[in-house]
Amino acid sequence: MTERAKAIAARVETFVRDVVIPYETDERRTGHGPADSLVMEMRDKAREAGVLTPHILPDGAHLTQRETAIVLTKTGLSPLGPLACNTAAPDEGNMYLLGKVGSPEQKAHFLESLVSGKARSAFFMTEPAEGGGAGSDPSMMRTTCRLDGNHWVINGRKKFITGAEGAKVGIVMAKSEDGACMFLIDLPDPAIRTIRLLDTIDNSMPGGHAEIDIVDLRVPANQMLGASGEGFKYAQIRLSPARLSHCMRWLGVATRAQEIATDYANRRHAFGKPLIDHEGVGFMLADNLIDLKQSELMIEWCAGVLDTGSLGTAESSMAKVSVSDALFRVADRCVQVMGGTGVSGDTIVEQAFREIRAFRIYDGPTEVHKWSLAKKIKRDWKEAR
Ligand SMILES: Cc1cc2nc3c(=O)[nH]c(=O)nc-3n(C[C@H](O)[C@H](O)[C@H](O)COP(=O)(O)OP(=O)(O)OC[C@H]3O[C@@H](n4cnc5c(N)ncnc54)[C@H](O)[C@@H]3O)c2cc1C
Repeated sequence: MTERAKAIAARVETFVRDVVIPYETDERRTGHGPADSLVMEMRDKAREAGVLTPHILPDGAHLTQRETAIVLTKTGLSPLGPLACNTAAPDEGNMYLLGKVGSPEQKAHFLESLVSGKARSAFFMTEPAEGGGAGSDPSMMRTTCRLDGNHWVINGRKKFITGAEGAKVGIVMAKSEDGACMFLIDLPDPAIRTIRLLDTIDNSMPGGHAEIDIVDLRVPANQMLGASGEGFKYAQIRLSPARLSHCMRWLGVATRAQEIATDYANRRHAFGKPLIDHEGVGFMLADNLIDLKQSELMIEWCAGVLDTGSLGTAESSMAKVSVSDALFRVADRCVQVMGGTGVSGDTIVEQAFREIRAFRIYDGPTEVHKWSLAKKIKRDWKEAR
């Protein structure tokens, strides 16, 4: 690991432990995520401490994925850490995509406000199951775009759009005659209306998750990201690093949950001895240690593959399945070790459990990754004949 990444990670860890963790009891945390006033207050402190957007260097260069892994894992030591340090989803993935595909003008207009932590963004891909729209299978996309003079006109409905409420930048996916397209949008826009905020199991992301109506949204042609019909290609560029960065942040949260459960098991007594001395409890913490280490190694391996310039589609599927399942087991055992306290809001352990459960669905449900891996196994088998 490079010295620069180790130094950044150490600064981030100190900041998250000393400054961010005390905010975990702040009343501005709501069922639909922390209020923007809380996010901005923490970001001001991160800016002062020199740990805002720590994975993007002052010259605009991105840390390697292996370097990013140790930094983002540290931001995850609190569920609020990624928000405070501006490494949270969906902004982190959106910044990455804009950095890779955006034109210089698009970067100046849309990327700078995100990197400086002054604005939030949202990624509009999924559509309601009820209308038969895009979900696990993005090719089912129903949202349309058609060229009208030098504008594109977009119509459709989206669902589960994280952070759409309060976002300043949107990346909207729609289908033209050429195929999938991506557009950069200034928000709010009267043509994009929130129908409702969904009540979901998780609550770490500001703005919550919205169902959205898009009616005759007019977007200047120069706000198309890349070329018409190439949208799924760009989604692929975003997806592998974005899903790996979820693994990094949730590894941080699960590590902290293990710290809290370990502390509980050492201090709390039952039947004449500390809980940790009961084999049933000690073994749960030991299994956690193994799952955490395997997750760390899986992330590092996949990050190394992405650093070679590979899209890492299969590798990031393997990492996402393995890490999200392992971290969910960790969070579940932490809840169990802590008894009633584990399911209460007194520590972040119950939030870790809820959040990591949701992580097994977004950025590709476990079964979809396994299904695509099975297709690859069949393809490779055929090619080897
Ligand atoms: C907390 C959260 C935040 C999200 N944020 C965003 C966001 O910001 N932007 C956005 O666009 N979307 C977002 N999503 C949507 C997310 O990407 C979708 O939920 C996901 O792609 C699955 O689509 P779906 O919910 O329509 O499930 P469906 O497509 O209905 O699938 C349901 C289940 O079917 C099974 N399944 C599907 N295909 C297969 C297969 N080939 N083989 C085996 N089993 C299969 C899986 O078990 C899957 O869980 C978010 C979702 C959540 C939960």
